Amino acid sequence: MSTKKKKNILIYKPVYKDEFPPLGLMKISTWHKQQSDDVQYLENILFSKEKDEFEKKHTCYCPFKEHYDIIYITSLFTYYSKEVVQSANYFRKRYPKAEIKIGGIAATLVPDYFKENTGIEPFKGLMMDGPEFCSPDYSLFPHLRHSISFTTRGCPRSCSFCSVSLHEPEFILKEDWEKDIDITKNSIVFWDNNWFASPNLEKDVQKLIAFQKVGISQIDFNQGLDCRLFDEEKAKLISKLKINPMRFAFDDYSEDGHIQKAIQLAQQYGFREIDVYVLYNSNFSWDDPEYFYYRINEINKAGGLSYPMRYRPINSTNGQFLSPKWDKELLRALKLSLMFFYSKGMISKKKESFEEIYGKSPTQFKKKLYDIFEKDKEKSKRKSS
Ligand code: SF4
Repeated sequence: MSTKKKKNILIYKPVYKDEFPPLGLMKISTWHKQQSDDVQYLENILFSKEKDEFEKKHTCYCPFKEHYDIIYITSLFTYYSKEVVQSANYFRKRYPKAEIKIGGIAATLVPDYFKENTGIEPFKGLMMDGPEFCSPDYSLFPHLRHSISFTTRGCPRSCSFCSVSLHEPEFILKEDWEKDIDITKNSIVFWDNNWFASPNLEKDVQKLIAFQKVGISQIDFNQGLDCRLFDEEKAKLISKLKINPMRFAFDDYSEDGHIQKAIQLAQQYGFREIDVYVLYNSNFSWDDPEYFYYRINEINKAGGLSYPMRYRPINSTNGQFLSPKWDKELLRALKLSLMFFYSKGMISKKKESFEEIYGKSPTQFKKKLYDIFEKDKEKSKRKSS
């Protein structure tokens, strides 16, 4: 009889900001625990030579074990790639015998960058050999108040500015997504890219109604729903669900006309909070400050709340991308203004509040931003003198 040797596994999330826990690592954790391996989760550790020297000289607490068989490092946005590389190189040096695996979205989008900077061939895409089919290990995040799942992977569209078709090239239905749901948590966040394109929509709604009966009080499709696929039939169907907020996107011309109708239809069927992602600073011909203003104004007129999202090229490890149709001043001021108004909860659907923040026209919008930029510059000057 052969007894399988227990493996020591480290799953690690490098230092970068993310409002959600690393789902891929949570699934890997379940996968290894099912094989009776020892799994340790660590995150956000700042590595430095000084710390290493200190650790060698002093008796101090260190979360790392002496030995690992496999170390998994996740990655997210490409502009956080340096942090991933730094972690991988640290672990390579500290644990030369461990197998180090780099995976996640950035690893899939810029694999050559990771190979060149760590010598490790990253894992691309989803781990279809096991972990992808596991439920997330919620014990790693005991304070998490929501379950996370996907009813589908991928998206049937392939918008040029979006990375989904690269890291999830096939549109896959996850028939058994309910196994991901922990019913002691009162909400579910779905990370679907395009739930409305799913032929299982009706089945999913029935399952969600059943979850609502046992206490799920909020459902969020946080990547947004496709306004081009939203019609009266779907509105009626999902009106039984406690989807809050209802999220759409208005990124380009293909959504114009559909988004206004979608917002109105959603309101008609009882959805009060409607957030709309709005891409800006992209290098596409249609994206300039005037068109950005047009989109947020249309959203405001229809009764939604815009949620601007700054574009960064999907294969760039440099987060400083500047579109030729925007300028540094406008981007800086828009960031400041969004940070200020959103953090103070001052963004509201009211027309007056919208005009107060963004102005009554594209010209006023730009003027307001340049004023904010100048004021900020003055403030920084005063601080430094
Ligand atoms: S519809 Fe959304 S998820 Fe699908 S490719 Fe376009 S931007 Fe990406």
